[in-house]
Amino acid sequence: RGPTADELLEGLNEPQRAAVVHAGTPLLVVAGAGSGKTRVLTRRIAWIIQERKAHPGSILAITFTNKAAGEMKERVEELVGKRARIMWVSTFHSACVRILRKEIDKLGYKSNFSIYDAADQKRLMGLVIKDLDLDAKKFQPGPVLHWVSNHKNELRDPDDVAKDVRNHVEEQYAAAYTSYQRRLREANALDFDDLIMMTVHLLQTFPEVRETYRRRFRHVLVDEYQDTNHAQYALIHQLCADNPELIEGEERVEPAELMVVGDADQSIYAFRGANIRNIMDFEQDFPNATSILLEQNYRSTQTILTAANSVIGHNKGRKPKRLWSDAGDGERIIGYVADDEHDEARFVSDEIDTLVDGGGRAGDVAVFYRTNAQSRVFEEVFIRTGQPYKVVGGVRFYERREVRDALAYLRMLNNPDDQVSLRRILNTPKRGIGDRAVACVQALADRDRLTFWEALRRADQAPGIATRSLTQIQGFVAMVEELQSMVEADERADVILESVLARSGYLAELEASDDPQDATRLENLAELVAVAREFSDDPVAGPSADPADVDAGLVAPGLGDFLERVALVADTDQIPDDDSDQGVVTLMTLHTAKGLEFPIVFLTGLEDGVFPHARSLGDQPELEEERRLAYVGVTRARERLYISRAVVRSAWGAPSHNPGSRFLDELPVDLVDWRRTEAAQTRWNRPDLASGSPARMGSPTTAGRRNFSSAAARADAAAKAKPAREIPSLEPGDRVLHDSFGMGTVVALEGAADKAVASIDFGSEGVKRLLLRYAPVEKL
Ligand code: ATP
Ligand code: MG
Repeated sequence: RGPTADELLEGLNEPQRAAVVHAGTPLLVVAGAGSGKTRVLTRRIAWIIQERKAHPGSILAITFTNKAAGEMKERVEELVGKRARIMWVSTFHSACVRILRKEIDKLGYKSNFSIYDAADQKRLMGLVIKDLDLDAKKFQPGPVLHWVSNHKNELRDPDDVAKDVRNHVEEQYAAAYTSYQRRLREANALDFDDLIMMTVHLLQTFPEVRETYRRRFRHVLVDEYQDTNHAQYALIHQLCADNPELIEGEERVEPAELMVVGDADQSIYAFRGANIRNIMDFEQDFPNATSILLEQNYRSTQTILTAANSVIGHNKGRKPKRLWSDAGDGERIIGYVADDEHDEARFVSDEIDTLVDGGGRAGDVAVFYRTNAQSRVFEEVFIRTGQPYKVVGGVRFYERREVRDALAYLRMLNNPDDQVSLRRILNTPKRGIGDRAVACVQALADRDRLTFWEALRRADQAPGIATRSLTQIQGFVAMVEELQSMVEADERADVILESVLARSGYLAELEASDDPQDATRLENLAELVAVAREFSDDPVAGPSADPADVDAGLVAPGLGDFLERVALVADTDQIPDDDSDQGVVTLMTLHTAKGLEFPIVFLTGLEDGVFPHARSLGDQPELEEERRLAYVGVTRARERLYISRAVVRSAWGAPSHNPGSRFLDELPVDLVDWRRTEAAQTRWNRPDLASGSPARMGSPTTAGRRNFSSAAARADAAAKAKPAREIPSLEPGDRVLHDSFGMGTVVALEGAADKAVASIDFGSEGVKRLLLRYAPVEKL
């Protein structure tokens, strides 16, 4: 039963097969983009189960995103059947959470710990900075947290850091780290970096725990190894290195078989502590390792590959690779120099229309950019033209206020020590528990050394508390306790969530509101309930449950499992699934695109100062990292690649004139077909410069010249089409587009005709009152 050995090796070339069947020593597969590393890793898992008769529970495979993990698991299941379900295929973070849920009591935390995301961390660090009386101008939560994160990735706890501070500022940072960590512990919460650091500490401190997992995981496989940081490396090392430290009376366990795959040229997470040396030094770190090189690329046309090789060739100190493809040359790369970012977005949108008119699928198209903020202009054009699109990353569903509120309720029910969540919902919706009452309760907590929740329950003893507040607090406590009893009874996550929304008054408040945004909030909450329901219906969904128990049908996923799933959702997990979204264009940053592939790719914003990022311009290592990002971007494309830049781009409201990206100069001239060059662009916009400087990259091709006239015609038409301003007739709830604030929703209107003023909510830009006669708004 099951596939034969031949079937498992089908569709693999020689070195790929060698990697699948390799046994006995640590294995490193290094290879350029699209050479089948991920495919080989997946097949190897199936091979290990099918041919080498390994128990699926003895396999630990690490991917970069949950989505990739899900796909890999599915693929292996297709190959060897349902028993594959119990293997651990997950991100580093998810794997660590699973270990910690079982073992963290040894480190003095409770197993129902909360996982704090970036926003929670900022709140907590904000409290710390206030608490320590640090200068709020010099110490902002973001940078302090970044510093803390770097230390955690290096496995340095507050004590280690405090030991070698070199000056007063560092001393203050170290104090912030210490206090932040103490508060996390009091809240029984871990941040993302803690998940890895704590697991490593656990394995280092408790040899018997380490041996349990070493004995369990006989096969460890890591994808995208080039982006591991020191803590992740140490984790792998604990599990797989030859281990001289023996526990008395225990037999020596052979180290697990380790396979890592990666590409040093695609290392793009140094800013999060990723260490490119992990992959470069693998053979030293794991003596007797075998290396396999893959050189054939199966993803892209030769044109795309040559372009990618040419760009990355400008990095120093790398091992040159010969990546080739037999997919044929394919089409030339298409380049476009836009007047500004709006023109660039229009170009992309027009090209997509042409592709779709010619029978292509919009779902095959991805648009990449360097920073999240760049998505807005593309979104605006797609909204105008009615082109469905999906932004991966950006403001995520789980970051919306109402979703965070609902999750804060669930989190504090699951873990009442979670202060950040508890404080968030204590007076949300408003129930008359103000700052004064909170201060009284906090005073009680400090005096009697209680957690904030315990103090709330004894609020009658709080010094100076007003009777009205006390009544409100007691009502709140009664509600929470009632909801907690549902958690204790192992009620389903969706049922608990619905009760929370009803009992807390949250739904009622939104339903009573006539703010149009609240209608959207209601929809989002309905969506969250649907997510919870789907989760509860799937018996293997609970990632922290022991897979063996789940398999035996013993464990239904609980509220804790649901919260964990939600906490670990990453940007790339929102990528549309192939069949359901055929007409939807995908927008994402280059970082998010790692590991993915699309038939058609638009690489936009190729300007010095945008991509490469301004920060990297004077810094060789950073510039090389940007170049690797460019390599990642180019190599996502299978059939067609578009590159574009804008001569003028507004950043922070002020237009800036950026030279073309230096990466454009690094592309072979003959591979790019410039539809429009800067020369053409300049001639049109600035007649005085008609004979001015040539385009920075390449010479104007015939295509460029040919399109000069059409671009001119288009701009001409646009100028003629602009009528004298009409005052748009608006109603509350209407969606509008403003030239500089972007998309917004009309909240209120005053006055009429020439004096009409609209209050418009522009989301992160805030609510603006605009005189419609002048305001450049357009009704959508
Ligand atoms: P990246 O570096 O971007 O992560 P990768 O090395 O992991 O790329 P894969 O994603 O595994 O590459 O493979 C790239 C594409 O090539 C996939 O569509 C895969 O199915 C296909 N592929 C890999 N190996 C072969 C092969 N031997 N024959 C045919 N197609 C292959
Ligand atoms: Mg891959």
